[in-house]
Amino acid sequence: MRLGHRPERDKRITTHVGLVARAFGAEEMLLCGRDAHVEESLNDAARRWGGAFRLTPNASWKGEIVRWKESGGQVVHLTMYGSNLPDVIDEIRKSEDILIVVGAEKVPAEVYQLADWNVAVGNQPHSEVAALAVFLDRLFLGRELFREFEGGLKIVPSSRGKEVIYPEFSSKDEEGGYEKSEYGDEAADDGLDEDDDQTANDADKSLLSW
Ligand code: SAM
Repeated sequence: MRLGHRPERDKRITTHVGLVARAFGAEEMLLCGRDAHVEESLNDAARRWGGAFRLTPNASWKGEIVRWKESGGQVVHLTMYGSNLPDVIDEIRKSEDILIVVGAEKVPAEVYQLADWNVAVGNQPHSEVAALAVFLDRLFLGRELFREFEGGLKIVPSSRGKEVIYPEFSSKDEEGGYEKSEYGDEAADDGLDEDDDQTANDADKSLLSW
């Protein structure tokens, strides 16, 4: 659950919260508020890259937390003020249904009360994206990195260049939806913003130059 999204300044970071949630094993993102840009980017990434991740916008944080707890689930609120992650993760892992809450600026005090665990990924301020990634990785003990996402583009891990399989678009080329390129692959867009893509392309160019 992404709390406190501010459309005028949080578009990218909220999109990244969603991309990390999906890539690191979450089933759903609840967005408190609406933002067409975020919704489009995340729905597009889920459609192109496969799997069953879904986005529910306009969630009421209190209603969702209360409903979640009433149906037997437990709530982890990520905050730098909480119990340090290594001290509580083994206990949290015993829970079968976990709702993870990340904030933006100031999180309502009631969230601290309603949470079953207030968890810090180290007691220093950093970022909701980093906190979520590290938390999920520790929760799933790194296994999420081997997970397959059904029905979308697939990357063939490669030490150089980019290799992508297009299962849904097997007519893409004569080799049955397989494309190998060394740089600049628009069709396998990762759903990030243009300036992220620019950074990736710059990195590719520097890779090609040596
Ligand atoms: N004062 C905030 C706090 O309670 O962590 C920091 C605000 S930070 C810009 C936005 C969000 O990042 C927080 O609401 C929290 O979910 C997450 N966050 C930042 N640092 C964290 C840390 N060390 N451990 C866990 N979560 C953190």
